[in-house]
Amino acid sequence: MNERYARELLAEFCKRLYDRQLTVSAGGNMSVRISPEEVIITPSGRNKGMLEPEDMVKLSIDGEVLSAGKPSIEHRFHLALYRMNPETNAVVHCHPLNCVTLAVRNEPIRCNLTPEGAMLLGHVPMIAYYTPGSDDLVEAVTAEGHAKAMLMERHGALTQGRSLEEAYNRMEELEFQARLQLLVGDAQDLPADEVEKLSRM
Ligand SMILES: [Zn+2]
Repeated sequence: MNERYARELLAEFCKRLYDRQLTVSAGGNMSVRISPEEVIITPSGRNKGMLEPEDMVKLSIDGEVLSAGKPSIEHRFHLALYRMNPETNAVVHCHPLNCVTLAVRNEPIRCNLTPEGAMLLGHVPMIAYYTPGSDDLVEAVTAEGHAKAMLMERHGALTQGRSLEEAYNRMEELEFQARLQLLVGDAQDLPADEVEKLSRM
């Protein structure tokens, strides 16, 4: 993918993430892979509603900074996911309120309440709490690194996809499922055979 286009796309999706209240203030980070060796990521400590294409930071897949700016503190788990999943071209991490509510309670998210949840997400693991930016957090993300989405205890949510649109859609759906779960209480999941059928669609 062309670098200029990747920067514009990231700025557009950051505004969308912020406007949809999937993250607040400087929380969260997002990246796209532009070649097998290079990634564009959001900068550290900036409000996601105010980012411009030129604010994004270029990194090598090994973490070398290749442009102006300081990359997100969480860039190492983004790079780890790209290295382990050749089909992943985008990673979204943020702090949506309903996902974080479940994550603070350390309550597993159930995405098999509706067909859409089962098709887009299915089983979503919860990874244990570790300090943001730490080696332990990178290791915990990597251990579940083949999941489309995960919750991070006391912290937030993470999705990946073949495109930024796919990773973003998974985040929107994840937050919807978290909200739904909090509203419907102990409603039953779809039957197992139906979930199985949907997950193959
Ligand atoms: Zn975070």
